[in-house]
Amino acid sequence: MKPIIKHLLDKATNRLSHLPSARRDAEVLLCKVLGADRAYLCARSEEIVAEVQSRHFERLVSERASGWPLAYLIGVREFWSIALYVTADTLIPRPETEHLVETALRHLPSDQSCAADLGTGSGAVALAIAQERPRCQIVATDISRKALAVAERNARRLGVNQITFRQGDWCDVLADEAYDLILSNPPYIPDNDPHLSQGDLRFEPPEALRGGLDGLAAARRIIDEAPNCLNAGGWLLLEHGYDQGALVQDRLRQSGFDSIRTYSDYAGHERVTEGQHGGP
Ligand code: GLN
Repeated sequence: MKPIIKHLLDKATNRLSHLPSARRDAEVLLCKVLGADRAYLCARSEEIVAEVQSRHFERLVSERASGWPLAYLIGVREFWSIALYVTADTLIPRPETEHLVETALRHLPSDQSCAADLGTGSGAVALAIAQERPRCQIVATDISRKALAVAERNARRLGVNQITFRQGDWCDVLADEAYDLILSNPPYIPDNDPHLSQGDLRFEPPEALRGGLDGLAAARRIIDEAPNCLNAGGWLLLEHGYDQGALVQDRLRQSGFDSIRTYSDYAGHERVTEGQHGGP
């Protein structure tokens, strides 16, 4: 019997029934294979799917069944309404990271400014800021050459040319330049956190997730180094875990920052902390 859309979806949903998003995942994967949207699946549910496509779909479903993140299987994740290309070399952008972007925009005027995004991964944060502040010159860094290649590809695809990409560790590649704003979503999960062996996190690059014993190794480095790379009055903004706000605040204070403040995400978790360097 030739496979039709409806039956392929039912079978795949069954196969993925251990996942809360089984039906949706099956639909998204079939859309990817057919190059169609979800409305098409609904309208043409009786349509026969070519053998080669149904085999491709089954392969993707079985990878999803074994835990592979949907974003890696379809190669895209939306962030700040931008469709970003992602691979297993980059962290999958999370909705809560949009708070980092929102907080940064409050400090970035619409006229000229310069900002640095440290550990850019897929380029999500830098590209969102570029979209909102076309006159902001942005340096986006990552230690991973493969991640940078993904970010550069995203910038090219979106026609963004206000971002310079540099390979290197945290503030090392900012040289002696002075920025109006530095922001980062660094790795911040403690090495022994059980979440690292659950869900999508199992497949994401560990260097984008693991932040040492208490999760704050990268944050400390950035906080200690950033004052050398900020203009007077410049801001440092960091994303962090729900229970790390107070520790990040302490470190910012020790490093001489003022006007320190923590913001929560929509789930009510402390998520972003900012501090101003040599404020007025
Ligand atoms: N927000 C991610 C998570 O908890 C972690 C991202 C990070 O370490 N920067 O799944």
